[in-house]
Amino acid sequence: MNRFEGKTVVVTGGNKGIGFAIAQRFASEGANLVIASVEAGVEEAAAKLRETGAKAVGVICDVTDRGAVAALYDRAEEEFGAVDISVQNAGIITIAKIDDLTEDQWDATMAVNTKGVFLCCQEAIRRMRKSGKGGRLINMASGQARDGFIYTPHYAASKFGVMGMTQSLAKEVALDNITVNAICPGIIKTDMWDYNDRVWGEMLGDFGPGELMESWVQNIPMKRAGEGKHVAALAAFIASDDADYITGQTINVDGGLIMSASHNPGGEDE
Ligand code: NDP
Repeated sequence: MNRFEGKTVVVTGGNKGIGFAIAQRFASEGANLVIASVEAGVEEAAAKLRETGAKAVGVICDVTDRGAVAALYDRAEEEFGAVDISVQNAGIITIAKIDDLTEDQWDATMAVNTKGVFLCCQEAIRRMRKSGKGGRLINMASGQARDGFIYTPHYAASKFGVMGMTQSLAKEVALDNITVNAICPGIIKTDMWDYNDRVWGEMLGDFGPGELMESWVQNIPMKRAGEGKHVAALAAFIASDDADYITGQTINVDGGLIMSASHNPGGEDE
């Protein structure tokens, strides 16, 4: 399928993990990719996309920096023309008991996960309105936008914030032919989960490498962790013409882990 032939797609945090899987999926369907991250390695990731025949560039951009975000969208327009799809995927997590949680941790988490989504959405919306073509915004939330896990109040707050922002923006830009939706990944194997497994594992009990993740995977009805490609498939659907009547929604990709707020990782019944 070449559903996104000639479309310009921006993916923040697009150099690895879920973001890179999303970039690969759009590239495989004909899109031109602008991937952004804070590390110099982003250009290597773009080169990998180009090896598959896609047009792609990597841009170093800290999503907490308004000027850098504006420069990211400038670069996208210079390279490929007006941005059609913007995926606000960049995110960070730290894990701390409330007594140990620092203001720096709180501020950094909100800055990347929530303010970063705001700055990118604002920039993308301004440009999509100006181009008159409309567009698609896809914001990365989390299972923690549904049900906060233990020892991550700052991360859960940042992701609940993403969900609220998604709903509010969807209402404001509906008549601009722009849809705004969010995705809640569950447990997806990436560097972030390596960190989660190690740190939560140490805090919740005597878990060896991989053991905490495996125990949480057993809570998933499908009994398997997700992969970036599962999240990417939903992002591609949301960005496709088939989804042009879907906006303001937050959709889980988690093998059924969260169907309500009733599951309780780290709680007494684990
Ligand atoms: P990774 O840690 O593998 O990747 C995070 C990405 O975000 C990297 O590309 C990183 O860039 C980028 N990033 C971090 N800070 C900034 C910043 N200030 N500016 C620009 N880019 C930044 O995480 P995942 O792929 O696992 O997560 C992707 C998204 O999915 C995140 O929003 C995360 O919260 C969410 N999520 C993930 C889940 C999972 O199970 N993995 C579950 C639920 C949600 P760099 O490499 O340069 O540091």
